[in-house]
Amino acid sequence: MRPITYSRATDTATAIAAVSADPTSDFLAGGTTEIDLLRQNVLHPRRLVDINDLPLTRIEATPEGGLRIGSLARMSEVAAAPTVRERFPVICQALELGASAQLRHMASMGGNLLQRVRCSYYRDAESPCNKREPGTGCSAIEGFNRGHAILGTSEHCIATHPSDVAVALMSLDARVHTLGPGGERTYAFDDFFLLPGDSPHREHPMEHGELITDIEVPATPVARHSLYLKVRDRESYEFALASVAAAVSVVDGTVADVRVALGGVATKPWRARRVEDFLIGAAAVRDNFALAARAELAEARPTPMNAFKVELAQRTVVRALETLTADGSGSPE
Ligand code: SF4
Repeated sequence: MRPITYSRATDTATAIAAVSADPTSDFLAGGTTEIDLLRQNVLHPRRLVDINDLPLTRIEATPEGGLRIGSLARMSEVAAAPTVRERFPVICQALELGASAQLRHMASMGGNLLQRVRCSYYRDAESPCNKREPGTGCSAIEGFNRGHAILGTSEHCIATHPSDVAVALMSLDARVHTLGPGGERTYAFDDFFLLPGDSPHREHPMEHGELITDIEVPATPVARHSLYLKVRDRESYEFALASVAAAVSVVDGTVADVRVALGGVATKPWRARRVEDFLIGAAAVRDNFALAARAELAEARPTPMNAFKVELAQRTVVRALETLTADGSGSPE
């Protein structure tokens, strides 16, 4: 048993000052990851600053047609917001497929982006793990790695990023706004998630005490026709083996705009730019979807145990795009 100091912040500046002044402290939002890992002896904060009273819960449509989501908005609130359902169905679907109803009511959007990996070696608090204890090695590379990543891996870590909604937001060019000891910052979504490289313990570029305040989703007309397809071992309360966030518009049988991101197969939410580059201006047909998916997975580095994900991810991309374009439904109305 380790003693932990708990305090409840009433304003954002005080919360940031408290955490940045103490390297052993952490913010506490929904707690759906932090408390688990604390109990499992994986995280060892000596001080928790509860931020649930901070005014960071708004879910607003912007005049330009985008969205602004406060970092403390709950997953369930965002999924239920009419403007999100209407303009960005891929976000709603990713949220609803992302966790049980109880967890969606508790978990915050900012916490969702920062949730830690589900690698069992990371979470057992004993096995060598470069993410938990830098320099100790990676137990998964030669271990049980059926669910691990095939894209964006390094010789130091192959853990899959676990978030679903981050995949949807990656496909939409979202931005992350933060406030910290160095003032306000804005990160492009792709820059916010770091590849493991030789420092897998660094998962994002924020400094200690920096707090996500908002997630901004720019106006994306194609997103009105979008979906999130998640393939997993069972139909509920399970992480993705492969998932696809996709949006597409088709004009006269040709792909006019397309967004695709992958989950369950990469060490960060994975923007499938090769798929997009291949398909823009191409005929919206299955053969092209399959060729585009193959191009994206060409650099996959699977292990013998998770090699099935290469084919699975390609098929999931094809199925998502076929679903969106069936009966010409990818065409603008
Ligand atoms: Fe740790 Fe990453 Fe290896 Fe899992 S895959 S044991 S999180 S270093």
